[in-house]
Amino acid sequence: MNLAFAALLLLVRPPADLSDFAKSYGLEADVRKSTFTDQARGYTVSGTEATDAAMESYRELWMKEWSLYPSDLMKTARVKKIVFCEGLRVNEQYRAAVPSFDLDAMYYDPALGAGIGNYQRSVIHHEFFHMIDQRMKLLYIDPEWSALNPKGFTYGNGGANMRDGNAGLMTKDIPGFLTAYGTSGVEEDKAELFAKLIVDAEFVADRVKNDKVIAAKVKLLKKRLAAYEKGMGQAFWDSVAKKTAADSLPMLALRA
Ligand SMILES: [Zn+2]
Repeated sequence: MNLAFAALLLLVRPPADLSDFAKSYGLEADVRKSTFTDQARGYTVSGTEATDAAMESYRELWMKEWSLYPSDLMKTARVKKIVFCEGLRVNEQYRAAVPSFDLDAMYYDPALGAGIGNYQRSVIHHEFFHMIDQRMKLLYIDPEWSALNPKGFTYGNGGANMRDGNAGLMTKDIPGFLTAYGTSGVEEDKAELFAKLIVDAEFVADRVKNDKVIAAKVKLLKKRLAAYEKGMGQAFWDSVAKKTAADSLPMLALRA
């Protein structure tokens, strides 16, 4: 079989079944069929049915993003279950996704933000990074990271207190940060950087060239991930780059 034909086969491969895909990661895909409230330690996670209509397009998007991760990472980060539901809330606050540290589960809302640019892709990685960061025991208190910030900078009151819809937009106007949301707390800063490195590497690379603080943060983030899990070193970033290139192929074809 020649290479071009093999590549074509990959392109026309039918989408894998969600639960089979999850199983290949040692995960359970839990698509909720009714309203629920899951009790966690000191908070509740609740939501409603993940409708077929919402799952129809989200399923593939989620699998595509998740396939970037090495399966060993699930064990290291102690993630056992991915819950899909709509109307997702932590206590009474609506969220696009929730990393539940004590339930060893990630929750994702397939409907919230559907069709808004890279929003859902970014959320998948941003929230999963919170899980990794918590497992690394660096989530909220991270002096090494905070010390990289511009002199005199202090973080805000956390992401929950910055719910402005524009806070997640990437900007070149804040030295040391990719988004306003990243200034709300050290945990959001790291998660934003990780997610944007995956969904808009070009933008981040451009900022890195002109911003020493961001360059230092990228370096530290990559160093930590590589040390945390074998498959999260250069091999991971190479597959991110490959996916980006593959995603932009149809656009290139259109331009030609
Ligand atoms: Zn966050």
